[in-house]
Order: sequence, then structure tokens, then C-alpha cells
Amino acid sequence: MNIILLGPPGAGKGTQAKSLESERGLKQLSTGDMLRAAVASGSAIGRQAQDVMDAGHLVSDDIMVRMIAERIEQPDCAHGFILDGFPRTVPQAEALDRMLAEKNKQLDAVIEIRVDEAVLIERIETRIAQTPEDERRADDSAETLEKRLEVYRDQTAPILPYYRERGILRTVDGMASIDEVAMAIDGILKESV
Ligand code: AMP
Repeated sequence: MNIILLGPPGAGKGTQAKSLESERGLKQLSTGDMLRAAVASGSAIGRQAQDVMDAGHLVSDDIMVRMIAERIEQPDCAHGFILDGFPRTVPQAEALDRMLAEKNKQLDAVIEIRVDEAVLIERIETRIAQTPEDERRADDSAETLEKRLEVYRDQTAPILPYYRERGILRTVDGMASIDEVAMAIDGILKESV
């Protein structure tokens, strides 16, 4: 089963992806985590991505599409994967469709975790306050968050109608508790089998 979790930064995609990974044996593919690992390793991609990420902008579609195309070929994705943070633009969604078709794979569900932006800002501010300074992500600041939300509205939200038109978009209420969101996702995935 291959699924996409969509939603703005702080919606809980990572938390839900981790629980799906442990309960369903699907592999979480977080492009944000992959990029942070590339930055930490000092690789060429990491050096290119760092400033873009710190500013809350998006890394180029070309880099991201290549990164995911290579990743989903790995054996740990054979039972299925959860895309967390990809696609983030319509061209990424189109490229994903093409690469899945080439590999004879399909998307089983695209799940939007819908949240209220004001609450989101509070959540992220709490996360920043509770994380020791040396463990904070470079992009975890109130200003960068505003930028990331704007980027979500402008560049990522247009993906929603793209998948709605294809009949595979489902929406869950991300303002519910973590367990309730997990149950709602579970219900959707049971229907999608
Ligand atoms: P995330 O951990 O998903 O919030 O991602 C952190 C940052 O990595 C984002 O703000 C972007 O700069 C970059 N990033 C992650 N995924 C993508 C993607 N699919 N396309 C472009 N940039 C991305």
C-alpha cells in the first residue's frame, strides 16, 4: 500500500507516518528528514538545500523528484511507503504519477490532515519552546513558520484539487487528538484495500 500524507507544517504528518510505519509495516519517507540528513552529511545536495530550507522555501522539484525516485526503489519500500512531505508542488505530483506508472506501482490513498492555521502556529511555538536550543531545527522559528505556511498555501495546497479530481483524496480532521486522527486514517486505509 502506498500513501501520501498531506498537510501544512506541524499538522502531524510525521507523527501519523511513524505510527503507520510501526503498525502496517509501511516505510515512512520524509523528504524533510532526507534533506536534513543530506545537510548533516555535507553532501552536494545538502549544501545546495541548506539555505533554502533555513529560509522556509522549497528545494527544487528536480532534486526532490530524483531523491524520491531513487528512494522508492529500495527494498525496504517493497511492502509500501508513506510519503511525508512529498509531493509539495503540482509538478512533483505529476512526476510522482509518471514514476509510479513506470514502476507499475500505484497510490492507494492521499490523506489530507486539515488543521486550523492559528492553532498550528501555537503548536509550533510550543514545540520550539519545549525543545532545547541545540536540538532545534534551523527552520523552527516563528518567522520561518509564517514563510512555510505561505509556501504551503501557494505551492502545496494546489495539489489537493489535483488528487480530488482523481478521486483519491480523503480528508481527516487534524484538530482531533493524535489517537483520533490515527483511527480516522486507519478507517480510510481499510476502505482503500
Ligand atoms: P519538512 O520536514 O517536511 O517540514 O521539510 C523541511 C524543509 O525541507 C521544507 O521547508 C523545504 O525547505 C524542504 N523540503 C522538504 N520536502 C520538500 C519537497 N518535497 N519539495 C521541496 N522542498 C522540500
